[in-house]
Amino acid sequence: MYADSLNYRDGKKEIGIIPKKGEAMGTCATFSRKYICCRVHVLRTVQNCPFECSYCFLQHYLTDGLTKAVDDTATLMQEVKEKISRQPRRLFRIGTWELGDSLALEEKTGQAAGLVREFARLDNAVLELKTKSDCVEPILGLEHRGKTVVSWSLNTGHVIETEEHLTPSLGSRLQAMGRAAAAGYLIGLHFDPMILYEGWEQGYESLARQVSEAVPHEQIAWISIGSLRFNPAMKKTIENNYPGTRLTCAEMVTGDDGKMRYVKPLRVGMYRHMYAVLKKYISGNPLTYLCMERWDVGCMGQGIRPAS
Ligand code: SF4
Repeated sequence: MYADSLNYRDGKKEIGIIPKKGEAMGTCATFSRKYICCRVHVLRTVQNCPFECSYCFLQHYLTDGLTKAVDDTATLMQEVKEKISRQPRRLFRIGTWELGDSLALEEKTGQAAGLVREFARLDNAVLELKTKSDCVEPILGLEHRGKTVVSWSLNTGHVIETEEHLTPSLGSRLQAMGRAAAAGYLIGLHFDPMILYEGWEQGYESLARQVSEAVPHEQIAWISIGSLRFNPAMKKTIENNYPGTRLTCAEMVTGDDGKMRYVKPLRVGMYRHMYAVLKKYISGNPLTYLCMERWDVGCMGQGIRPAS
């Protein structure tokens, strides 16, 4: 069993450049009417990721031992342009992170830079690059015309050290965020997945404070908050791939979407705390929404807005 996990983790080091096959743009795979939906669209430009987050759902689906990047920007953009032209009065938010990290491979692929240049010319779409990396150098000098939001998936130092293996430290991510903001990009903040551990309240408060010092508040485009969730069948996979993890020790319940989460009172408490510390440190009341949560939980989240 452990040999399988080593194969999985070793395979993530190889990068394959592939042509576009079939449809690349679609809606978020987790769409369900029972859950709050931010209506983001996805552009599947990468498959798998060089980082190793113990909670990553990709370990359950992408086990062919290769990280892949689509090299065909022109064909990707042809599909994007064709689809957004059908609804010219709608502003599309299109993210490239459904099956990987938007910037982690950028120094090798140059893919995100190509997309930033293309989206700068579109009237009714915004590109969202979501990352845990600190790789912003290749996109800093681009003429993005405010049509790309660079977002960071953020967590406490404790969670980064214990569960987000091989990812850059919080300090490196925040430094990269400051550089992207200085280059004029709007910034997205994703506090997801929040994870319970002893001292989590102080950890997330410290995180909110550090983020507030790293980026001009008026450049924050949106904030999302979510908590740990995974498919029940993933429990064994996580334990095999990451034997030291504490993620699977928590008491969890299965939701209407079949995913396991902390029990509702705990989740509501986590969201309220995160929202409160964000209010405390970040001015301007940026749009803040819950990711993959039921509407009734959203309504209990005191002021957190469902995005639509
Ligand atoms: S950065 Fe995202 S895609 Fe990469 S391993 Fe972590 S959760 Fe998975």
